[in-house]
Amino acid sequence: MVDLVSQYNNIKPAIDSAILNVIENAQFINGPEVSSFKEELEKYLDVNHVIPCANGTDALQIALMALGLKPGDEVITPSFTYIATTEVMALLGLKPIFVDVDPNTFCIDATLIKSAITEKTKAIVPVHLYGQSAPMNEIMEIANQYNLFVIEDNAQAIGCDYTLSNGKTIKTGTIGHIGCTSFFPSKNLGCFGDGGAIFTNDTDLSIKIKMISNHGQSKQYYHDVVGCNSRLDNIQAAVLRIKLKELDKYNNARRRVADYYDAFFKQYPQITTPSRAENSTHVFHQYTLKLEGINRDELRSHLAKNEIPAMIYYPVPAHKQKMFESFGSADTILPITDWLTERVISLPIHTEMNEEQLNKICNTVAEFING
Ligand SMILES: *Cc1c(COP(=O)(O)O)cnc(C)c1O
Repeated sequence: MVDLVSQYNNIKPAIDSAILNVIENAQFINGPEVSSFKEELEKYLDVNHVIPCANGTDALQIALMALGLKPGDEVITPSFTYIATTEVMALLGLKPIFVDVDPNTFCIDATLIKSAITEKTKAIVPVHLYGQSAPMNEIMEIANQYNLFVIEDNAQAIGCDYTLSNGKTIKTGTIGHIGCTSFFPSKNLGCFGDGGAIFTNDTDLSIKIKMISNHGQSKQYYHDVVGCNSRLDNIQAAVLRIKLKELDKYNNARRRVADYYDAFFKQYPQITTPSRAENSTHVFHQYTLKLEGINRDELRSHLAKNEIPAMIYYPVPAHKQKMFESFGSADTILPITDWLTERVISLPIHTEMNEEQLNKICNTVAEFING
């Protein structure tokens, strides 16, 4: 699905010397690379505060912890997402309230949010799924009206631009009260292990987030709140500093792959190519098709026979996971989520893809359809 070896080979000298430099200085934790990366990411995102942490799941957990919610409080979120988004809610005793998604953009359907709000609702966690923004203008309007927090799960959309109602274009992850991201190796900005970050423009929240991610510590050995230990290490930060400089180029390369696929697949009525969300650019973390009248499993095994991977993101929506059995969420009716779960398929997309590879993938799909 991705080719991280070729990507590394294209930036190898810079990466090797940056990693070696960390090793030679033996500053593995809280080193200078982490603080430089933090500043560079703040500049890139145009956000007041970036707090690096250990992974994207921690970022979401810490963000929720910073809001001071009580067990039983409700958080509105899509079910059509990676499990981490909602798992952290359960872990903190919060109740995920699952809302259906837009069949075209795969992101939360803002028109369904109001009817999911109750007295216990405290926050909305939209997910910028596959690399484009959830309808943030509508979400922020509802959040302001009902006094709710918004935490953006930006793990799949770093670098994505969104145009606000006032005409200003800003980066996803900086629109709500808090944004969260992951630097898992295959993400659009990936490191060589685990990593994550939390963004906010709110200085009070940034202080809480920093404290929670560092054992609830306000000054050394003074612990004010229950926190956790969630750090980005210096080696990962050194890698990320180099790759951050390439991020826009990487996202453009992904868009070119998507354009190529789009142009090829539009001739097939059985295939719907990804539509573009309003006000949002697309950074194509995934390139995901919807199939109708095509047997997905058979297509997948035909591709596999030709050494082409294809993935289903995600085969079981969160509300139907055993994890949430005790929440009774399996009874929630989410027709679009269920429909998508059975029809989506994601094709390989990455920064180093060439025309020959694209051609082979497209022709292999065509061969299957044409029989
Ligand atoms: C990857 C991902 C996460 C979790 O990130 P990790 O770094 O793997 O913990 C959370 N949400 C979404 C939507 C993701 O894609």
